[in-house]
Amino acid sequence: MALPEHIHLEIATPEKQVFSGPVDEVTVPSTVGYLGILPGHAPLLGELGIGEISYKIGDHREYLFCSWGFVEVLPERVIILAQRAENASEIDIKRAEQARQRAQSRLTSKDPNTDFVRGQLAALRAISRLDVARRYQHRQLPR
Ligand code: ATP
Repeated sequence: MALPEHIHLEIATPEKQVFSGPVDEVTVPSTVGYLGILPGHAPLLGELGIGEISYKIGDHREYLFCSWGFVEVLPERVIILAQRAENASEIDIKRAEQARQRAQSRLTSKDPNTDFVRGQLAALRAISRLDVARRYQHRQLPR
């Protein structure tokens, strides 16, 4: 049987549909590492962690931040239901930088009530947002 040429990608959060359309390749941050998906991939259901979703259309690659959720992979379709999914252009860099600094000061705090896991997750969200936003900024620079 011939492999499909494209993947129909859907990315949604509880608030909105973030993306819907044909793509050539998708990469998602599963809880056990990054998963690269090409057309014709075997069916699977995975859990998403905190990180970067990217998809490729021709030579063009788009990046999104995501945090928690599920991905369903079928040979011709990938459905991502994420708790948070933000296009690189939507990320507020100043806010993410402030969140990173807040998390960092919590992680270095001597307060015995500090919840370190919560601090680590907040730091990871902020750092991932900054990584995704910088990829976008980098692309906007004049060549
Ligand atoms: P913060 O401490 O700045 O709220 P957070 O990681 O705790 O960051 P979340 O709980 O993941 O934030 O998200 C709360 C809401 O704010 C979501 O709707 C999310 O998309 C949005 N949001 C959080 N940080 C940013 C950002 N840097 N740029 C754009 N939207 C953001």
